[in-house]
Amino acid sequence: MGTTIFTIMSRLAADEGAINLSQGYPDFGAPPKLLERVNQYIAAGYNQYPPMSGIEPLRAAIADKVAAQYDTKVDSETEVTVSSGATEALFCAIHAVIRAGDEVIVFDPCYDSYEPAVTLAGGTCQHLPLSAPDFHIDWDRVADAISERTRLLIVNSPHNPTGAAWDKRDIEGLRAAIGDRDIFVVSDEVYEHIIFDGRRHESLVRYPDLFERSFVVSSFGKTNHTTGWKVGYCVAPAPLSAEFRRIHQFVNFTTPTPLQHGIADFLVECPEHHEELPAFYQAKRDLFCELLGESRFRLQPSKGTFFQLLDYGAITNERDADLARRWTVEHKVASIPVSIFYAEPPEQRYLRFCFAKDDSTLAQAAQILSGL
Ligand code: PMP
Ligand code: GLN
Repeated sequence: MGTTIFTIMSRLAADEGAINLSQGYPDFGAPPKLLERVNQYIAAGYNQYPPMSGIEPLRAAIADKVAAQYDTKVDSETEVTVSSGATEALFCAIHAVIRAGDEVIVFDPCYDSYEPAVTLAGGTCQHLPLSAPDFHIDWDRVADAISERTRLLIVNSPHNPTGAAWDKRDIEGLRAAIGDRDIFVVSDEVYEHIIFDGRRHESLVRYPDLFERSFVVSSFGKTNHTTGWKVGYCVAPAPLSAEFRRIHQFVNFTTPTPLQHGIADFLVECPEHHEELPAFYQAKRDLFCELLGESRFRLQPSKGTFFQLLDYGAITNERDADLARRWTVEHKVASIPVSIFYAEPPEQRYLRFCFAKDDSTLAQAAQILSGL
């Protein structure tokens, strides 16, 4: 396994003094109330091990959020587990179900932590392509690809890196492709609250027949502008959560206590924070896209996430990996080459830009990009 592209590009951006629109993290602060709460808990001595599955108030607050958001009741005791970021939850969910020889279907471009976790569990990935320009899943193709050895599908909506988002047809497609086969689903929903233009997030927890076989993973890093805290969670039916916890107890065991308490309070006291997130990020997407209106990039505005793909085919034929590096060095704007998310990159020319940035940062970056 190599070094992740996020480490490579963020390091290069820092070395070159470039505006860093590569790795996905905000350059603005977390909500003051959240910081206040976490500081209070640290000062009050909440600094020893919390329970392995997460503190009860946070699990309960997550279950309440799921109920409010997706109209589904989950049991905070047996179906919600707090993890050290979504990355850990994805790893544990994959290791809970994958054994040597199992096959896992993933969709390219595919978030870079899935395949290494599958490989470490002894499984192999079967890569199916999402089709540009809207990057939807061809569910007939999925149905054809499923074999006796297929044990798991890993899906992600809203989708990193493309900004695609599922609609009801994807739910039907997933249902039809799996049928009554003995297949699990890991649903990476870390951008559940970053979805635009009035779309409804199609969480798998909404659908009992799909949820019964699913691990639904999310992250407070995205939702609360605190990617460095690494607090996430997995919602899964009790038997799957029990398996998940068997792995989790030996990966991280648990997640920092004061962060869990602070986040629990914040969820209860300020639910408007995540409710307002779609509008907050939609304004940033719109600003970024509008500022690039006169540029030579072609784009389809993201439907969700805080990433925007830019098609640079009208500017150059260079490989995206070379170009991302060159523009970081020469023009001081860093991005992520999308080919990195493919097992076999197709002939596409996209770079991914993160717009979770102050408007002034976006304006500065857009000005440079518009001159290319
Ligand atoms: N899945 C996707 C699709 C992501 O984009 C990210 C991080 N940006 C993660 C998982 C990992 O989240 P975390 O930082 O909470 O581990
Ligand atoms: N998920 C973030 C991104 O896509 C990066 C996470 C990481 O650096 N591991 O940019």
